[in-house]
Amino acid sequence: MKKIQNYINGEFRDPISDDWLENYDPSTGEVYSKIPNSSMDDVELAYRSAEAAFESWSNTTLEKRSGILMKIASLIDEQLDRLAAAESKDNGKPLSLAISVDIPRASSNFRFFAHAITQFSTEAHESIGLNTMNFTLRQPLGVVGCISPWNLPLYLFTWKIAPALAAGNTVVAKPSEVTPMTAFLLGEICNEAGLPKGVLNIVHGMGPSTGHSIVSHPNIKAISFTGGTKTGEHIAKIAAPMFKKLSLELGGKNPNIIFADCNYDKMLAVTLKSSFANQGQICLCGSRIFVERPLYNKFKEDLVHKTKELKVGDPFDAKTNIGALVSKSHLEKVQSYIDLAKEEGGTILCGGNRVIVDGFEEGYYLEPTVIEVPNDLCRVNQEEIFGPVVTIMAFDTEEEVLKMANSVKYGLSATLWTENINRTMRISKKLEAGIVWVNTWLNRDLRTPFGGMKNSGVGREGGFEALKFFTEPKNICIRYD
Ligand code: NDP
Repeated sequence: MKKIQNYINGEFRDPISDDWLENYDPSTGEVYSKIPNSSMDDVELAYRSAEAAFESWSNTTLEKRSGILMKIASLIDEQLDRLAAAESKDNGKPLSLAISVDIPRASSNFRFFAHAITQFSTEAHESIGLNTMNFTLRQPLGVVGCISPWNLPLYLFTWKIAPALAAGNTVVAKPSEVTPMTAFLLGEICNEAGLPKGVLNIVHGMGPSTGHSIVSHPNIKAISFTGGTKTGEHIAKIAAPMFKKLSLELGGKNPNIIFADCNYDKMLAVTLKSSFANQGQICLCGSRIFVERPLYNKFKEDLVHKTKELKVGDPFDAKTNIGALVSKSHLEKVQSYIDLAKEEGGTILCGGNRVIVDGFEEGYYLEPTVIEVPNDLCRVNQEEIFGPVVTIMAFDTEEEVLKMANSVKYGLSATLWTENINRTMRISKKLEAGIVWVNTWLNRDLRTPFGGMKNSGVGREGGFEALKFFTEPKNICIRYD
């Protein structure tokens, strides 16, 4: 059985306790590898190696630092097929998605921040008459912690690690215990790219133990976390008394608002994706669909028809649109929301059942599901389900749909479909979301600020925002005569 190891000081190591966890293939429900159940001692070892590497890495020229990150990006590109296959097997997502989205984005993350750090600049303020010149240094923080979730494993892992390293920090990182494989393979790539020992350290294990050891480590200066809102809340409570810098990218329950004047065919095609891509396990999925009443019945019929055409099955089959959910417990959670929808008076328009795939009978497959809900305040419309499940409702006025869109505790993203530019501006300004997409979805320019409002997070990542997070500003004031 394949053995995943921690990556500490450039070496692959078993956990000190020799304690291991099982790693499942969601497409078959079988254990296929084992991963370290790392303890506080492993995290301490990782921290020490990161601390020892900091002085040299933070003083490495930008040209050299950037060159190594570019090399990592190129190696990820070269190993696209291998990494995509590993991601698909570990997560259950269609191989085609891992090839077209997950792995290319991981290399883009490294390439983008390798460039960005060479363009990052600071401000100077001259106080005329006072004869002083102020300028700001942006210095790396030291050893930082990066913790990422299972839905877009290498994509989100590298989204944190790349800016942290580019800014001159050294890193202790933990991928989700549910999807550790590509993070493990990244260690090999870093060695091949010549990343100095100890600059990046990857420890595997469970959130409440390994993750907790990173968050509560007194000398790890900042935590960049992507995951659930509850976990984020927990992490914030631990980090706050230690005055750690925190970046929290948390859950979402995003509205997809469709006006009758939209480009219908484009909207329908994109809405199918924003509903069910990656089995609906993307924090940005538009899981609450609101449709202007004149279009409602036609849209409902077409969405149901298109949803029924989606093929659920083996992630490695090129014809598959919907792979397996990530784990048994997650499948059960999503199913419990479908049961709840029925109790709350919702109508299951299509889907709702577990799918038994020939040859993969124990895999975690679920039909893509569309639920017509009686009101926007029911729990299935308020709570994050994070699976292939969307709700739909009709609306009559802009005011009404804005109220419904903003009625949740989350504020990550929103999608708006209309050809009316005035309405676009009116609504975009009032939506409580960190990202608003108009006539598109998941359209990402890595220079833009990324993150959520309300319970969807604190802070922004992306572009220079990420480099600002991973550096400490220090103002230097010089008096001259
Ligand atoms: P979790 O919050 O369960 O886990 C995220 C990461 O935190 C994992 O590595 C996990 O480890 C770790 N972790 C869990 N508990 C702790 C703890 N007490 N201390 C430190 N680390 C801990 O989220 P999921 O992995 O279930 O991911 C799904 C969630 O992520 C959804 O809510 C989704 O919306 C959100 N998300 C947000 C995004 C955004 O950009 N805003 C993007 C993608 C997802 P382990 O898995 O080993 O338990």
